[in-house]
Amino acid sequence: MASYYNENTILYLNGTYVKATEAKMDYYSQSLHYGYSVFEGIRSYKTVNGETSIFKPEEHFTRLKNSAEALNMPYTWTNQELIDASYEVLKRNNLQDAYIRPVVYAPANMSFVQNTESFIFIEVWPMLPFLGEKLLRVMTSSFQRPNPKGFKITAKAAGHYVNSILASQEAKANGFDEALLTDMLGFVAEGPGANMFYEKDGALLTPSLGNILPGITRATVFEIAEEMGIPVTEKQITSEELKQADAAFFCGTAAEVIGWESIDNVSFKKNWNDTISKKIKEAYAARVIEMEIHQTVEA
Ligand code: PMP
Repeated sequence: MASYYNENTILYLNGTYVKATEAKMDYYSQSLHYGYSVFEGIRSYKTVNGETSIFKPEEHFTRLKNSAEALNMPYTWTNQELIDASYEVLKRNNLQDAYIRPVVYAPANMSFVQNTESFIFIEVWPMLPFLGEKLLRVMTSSFQRPNPKGFKITAKAAGHYVNSILASQEAKANGFDEALLTDMLGFVAEGPGANMFYEKDGALLTPSLGNILPGITRATVFEIAEEMGIPVTEKQITSEELKQADAAFFCGTAAEVIGWESIDNVSFKKNWNDTISKKIKEAYAARVIEMEIHQTVEA
C-alpha cells in the first residue's frame, strides 16, 4: 500500500493543524460505523510559473457542501476558509503536486437520527499515478451503480464507495485494469472513481447526468471540447454502441484524462495517437498547470 503520511505529516483538523500521527478521531463516530461521511478529491499542481495552484477549488468545496447537505449533515464552513486551509496544509507539508482530501464526518452516534454538528479534516499527500499512464483494459462490471432512488447518487458520500471498491477489485481479479459500471437500467454509467466519454466520428458522447457523479473533470472536458469545436452529446449509452467506438477515456480529478485500450477485450477502432480524445488529454494536462496551448482538430 502507498504511504500517505509519515511522522512529519500535518493535517487540518477542525480549525487547527496537527500531526497526522497525533490526530484523534472518535471510534464511536456514525461515519465510521455506517459510511456516513462526505468527501472530496481535489488536486494541486505546480504551475508553469512554479506556483502551487489548486484546480477548481470553488467547484470542489461547493460540491462538498452540497454532498453534506444532501445527507442532512450540518455544514458550517465557507469555501474560502477551506481553500485557505488547503493551501496552508500544502505549505506545511511542503507539497505542490498533491492530492487534497477533505472529509466531513459525524460525531459519536449509533442511532440513525440527524446530528447537530459535523467535523472536518483535510489531508494532503503526494500525487501518485492513479491509473498509470498506459491505455486501460476496461471490463464491464457485474456491479451496477447504486440506485438513485436508494442513495443521493450525486453526493460524494463515503458509503457509495463500497460499490466502487467491489467493482474495481472484481476488474483486477479478472485481469483488467479498471471497471466500467452500468446504471440500474443497464446503460453505461461511469468508472469506480471517474466519468467516461467515448469518441465516434469526431464527436464525443458521455452518459447524461442523473445516475452518475457530476464530475468536475467531466465539466472541464465539456469546456475544452467547446474551445476546440468538438461536439459533445449527453445521452443513454449502451454497451453495444461503446464497442463500436473509435476511442474512449475516463476522466476524473485523480485519473485526469486516461485513454482506454479496450472494453471487455474489444479494442477501439482508432489508434489512440490519432484520436481527438488524445488531444483532450493533452489540453487537460496543460490546463491544470496553467500552460497555454493551441490545439486544432481536423473536421
Ligand atoms: N465518478 C465517481 C464515482 C468519482 O468518484 C469521481 C471522482 N470524484 C468522478 C466520477 C470524477 O469526478 P471529478 O472529476 O469531480 O473528480
